[in-house]
Amino acid sequence: MTILAIESSCDDSSAAVIIDGKLHSNIVASQAIHQKWGGVVPELASRAHQQHIVPVVAEALATAKITKSDLNAIAFTRGPGLLGSLLVGTSFAKALALGLNIPLIDVHHMQAHVLAHFIDEPKPQFPFLCLTVSGGHTQIVFVRSPLDMEIIGETQDDAVGEAFDKTAKLLNLPYPGGPLIDKYAKEGNPLRFEFPTVEMQGLNYSFSGIKTAFLYFLQKETAKNPNFVEENIKDICASMQHTLIKILLQKLKKAAKQYKIKDIAIAGGVSANSGLRAELQRLGEELGWNVYIPQFQYCTDNAGMIAMAAHFKAEKGEFCGQDVSPMPRMAW
Ligand code: ATP
Ligand code: FE
Repeated sequence: MTILAIESSCDDSSAAVIIDGKLHSNIVASQAIHQKWGGVVPELASRAHQQHIVPVVAEALATAKITKSDLNAIAFTRGPGLLGSLLVGTSFAKALALGLNIPLIDVHHMQAHVLAHFIDEPKPQFPFLCLTVSGGHTQIVFVRSPLDMEIIGETQDDAVGEAFDKTAKLLNLPYPGGPLIDKYAKEGNPLRFEFPTVEMQGLNYSFSGIKTAFLYFLQKETAKNPNFVEENIKDICASMQHTLIKILLQKLKKAAKQYKIKDIAIAGGVSANSGLRAELQRLGEELGWNVYIPQFQYCTDNAGMIAMAAHFKAEKGEFCGQDVSPMPRMAW
């Protein structure tokens, strides 16, 4: 089965082709326009998707060395995400499927982040736990099978990706700040500064308090020394990153123990963070976990993961009709 998948939930327009479960192309066009606004502007994202979608799909087909007439189904991200962005991918997918008279497959973006692990070897064994950490979500997911997943813990307020991006913004770093914090952190002292953390119940997270604590910390230090940020950027980034990773892994450890699971994966944009990857690997060695870390290109938003999820849905005959519409707050 040959499936074209389209991802347009936020600010990356992407298309991919999967043939019988093997990914043949994965093209991503990111939107630089948001940088000057310090965050994603929904209207601009929607317009940029409209500009990118045709060339991105054409390139995905060309790279996979196929044409539209080879396609058996069209998959798309139905949600969660920004409505205007989702509408572009959904409408395009529906129109193409109608024109080619082939079925549609609607995909849940967060489930696809988890299923990105099945694009390449080594693939996790079921059941496994996946820490999904991205710009809008922070979840510990119990994965029984490709289409049977349950959220067993999640953030009650901000996502950890937001904590990275907001920290970066307060440090006057351009959007998205996560990768820059990662870069500076590599050369800094992670134990130089301490930030207060709150203990949440069960397997849940909270990242809004640390953001406010960080703002007060910067205000206090820059009042004493106006050059505080410039002089200490590496140590500030390393200390903040260290704190965020500590919070993430503490609950993951608790979940692994509670569910007696030793196959542990990470997914989502923040799983590109080198500190998190290294610390998870180290913890895995200490606790005897089988750790699964995706390639960088499958961490942040990409249609390859949508294609992978669509492959599993197609295997089960889970298609949707032309009456489908995007769901910005799509449930599991
Ligand atoms: P969601 O998947 O929740 O809808 P999204 O699709 O916007 O949100 P992703 O593309 O999965 O999110 O991830 C983007 C986030 O990942 C941003 O917050 C970005 O700062 C963060 N990120 C990317 N690379 C790194 C890195 N190396 N270190 C820390 N954070 C990173
Ligand atoms: Fe995402």
